[in-house]
Amino acid sequence: MSRALEILEHVFGYAAFRGAQGEVVDHVAAGGDALVLMPTGGGKSLCFQIPALMRSGTAIVISPLIALMQDQVAALQEVGVAAECLNSSLTPEEAASVEHRWMSGALDLLYVAPERLLNPRTLAQLEHTHAAHGIALFAIDEAHCVSQWGHDFRPEYLQLSVLSERFPGVPRIALTATADAQTREEIATRLNLTDARRFVASFDRPNIRYRMVEKDGPRKQLLDFVNEHPGEAGIVYCLSRRKVEETAAWLTGQGIPALPYHAGLGQDVRAENQLRFLREDGVVMVATIAFGMGIDKPDVRFVAHLDLPRSIESYYQETGRAGRDGLPAEAWMAWGAADVVQQRRMIDESEGSDAFRRLAGNRLDTLVGLVEATGCRRQHLLSYFGERAEPCGNCDNCIEPPKTLDVTDAARKALSCVYRTDQRYGAAYLVDVLRGERTDKVHERGHASLSTFGIGADLDDKLWRSVFRQLVARGLLAVDHDRFGALMLTESARPLLKGEAAFEIRQPVKKGKRLKAGRGRIVPTGAEAELYERLRAWRADTARERNVPAYVIFHDATLLEIASRKPDSLEALGAVSGIGDRKLEAYGPDLLSLLTA
Ligand code: ADP
Ligand code: ZN
Repeated sequence: MSRALEILEHVFGYAAFRGAQGEVVDHVAAGGDALVLMPTGGGKSLCFQIPALMRSGTAIVISPLIALMQDQVAALQEVGVAAECLNSSLTPEEAASVEHRWMSGALDLLYVAPERLLNPRTLAQLEHTHAAHGIALFAIDEAHCVSQWGHDFRPEYLQLSVLSERFPGVPRIALTATADAQTREEIATRLNLTDARRFVASFDRPNIRYRMVEKDGPRKQLLDFVNEHPGEAGIVYCLSRRKVEETAAWLTGQGIPALPYHAGLGQDVRAENQLRFLREDGVVMVATIAFGMGIDKPDVRFVAHLDLPRSIESYYQETGRAGRDGLPAEAWMAWGAADVVQQRRMIDESEGSDAFRRLAGNRLDTLVGLVEATGCRRQHLLSYFGERAEPCGNCDNCIEPPKTLDVTDAARKALSCVYRTDQRYGAAYLVDVLRGERTDKVHERGHASLSTFGIGADLDDKLWRSVFRQLVARGLLAVDHDRFGALMLTESARPLLKGEAAFEIRQPVKKGKRLKAGRGRIVPTGAEAELYERLRAWRADTARERNVPAYVIFHDATLLEIASRKPDSLEALGAVSGIGDRKLEAYGPDLLSLLTA
């Protein structure tokens, strides 16, 4: 067995590498640089943690958030790895002790914040340990923080290229879950990693079930949804602080352990609520987007949206926080046509430049395209990120195909109107022409004399907008961002124009209804359920005693496997995924007595 696999099994308790993990580990352990792009929950940490243990010297991990570091360090210590962090949460004495152990070569991994790493004193310490014991590698986690256009931008990340200059022989590995191509290039250039080998995983999250419902008493719909996940942790996103507070209070009144989180709350309230979400079982966090980055909690079972997210990217990032552990999880959203209208008005009335407003408007259209889609949601999402996929069988549209409306005729009129107006205008104007509105612009441009003027007066504005959105969403029309969001025909529009294809959109529904098919949940039954609950109670006690989050002791997946396999010896227990040598030694006897009780 290779040394990497041996570490995977004995230290981390896993039987096999996932996806590209094994290749990344081999490459970095052999001294190569790497740029790793994997979705949330893909298993990025092992990509640098295992090479860190294989190479001599301490591995330096640069991570932007204290909470993130603390969790990873706690989990590593739990499996017997000598890991520590250096950040502002330590007292001077604690920091001195960590530095001492580091200087003496006793640490396998050291987590540091970028500003700490870049201060001259730390850089000098790095030089010193490099000469004395070698540096195993540099891992740059959340590497998209280097992107100036992203919302997680951290200026210190820009200076990390200094590492390649000062320590040329030390392998560097940068990791991110950010899917878009532009950010990837930015990471490679700014971190001096253009020659690094790239590992790009599929961004699919097959264990997440996507569901989108039309609003019909959203509070009640939310409550019904949350009640499908009793005792499970989840996040509910709202747009405004006020709505966060009101929703959290209301859920609490309905017997759900819900907490609010937004930037307007005091620092200590936020910290306390976050800690309770991480440490207690089954807390529902109602939050604005201020909550999320660095939440590494693996057993978030659902993410709900009560308002439309800003863009498909935000939606994917926010929902990606569910089900990191690979077990079934749900992404649920309630939306209404009124929300779309309100957001469009907010964009129109916003202060930004015309270009900014157009971009925001197009983002909203793209998102609404997803919401109104009649086909597989996952296929739609992945194609947005440039990946092809088959219908997934694990989204609302696959499970229960929506009622559709045949709008072939309208869609053909829309395409022809785009063509007659020389592919120069956006949807709002084209709808005016189709509906025969005699606006000033229509007159100025002489479009009242076109053959397509007024040929769509029988349909209302709302329906026309959704026809255009779906034409864009399905690639029959393309948006030209450089030309004021003008819509242009693509090759894919041909069959429809020639009358060889039909076009259907989602039938607007009146009543919100439940998804009939089986819920996206993990529910053991009978004796197994009883045992699972006992294991969870034991884990909660143990976690409290050791002052770490429950998932640092064992993941749900591990407890579920124990409950179903009922191992009767230490050896059998050791074969369960997630139980390495150290955890077997520490918890094995306790677990066995619990199993035989
Ligand atoms: P990311 O940082 O990419 O979001 P993590 O490194 O936190 O993902 O890993 C996600 C989860 O998957 C963790 O709980 C981890 O323990 C688990 N995991 C990672 N690799 C494996 C593997 N090879 N086998 C089983 N579980 C794994
Ligand atoms: Zn699907």
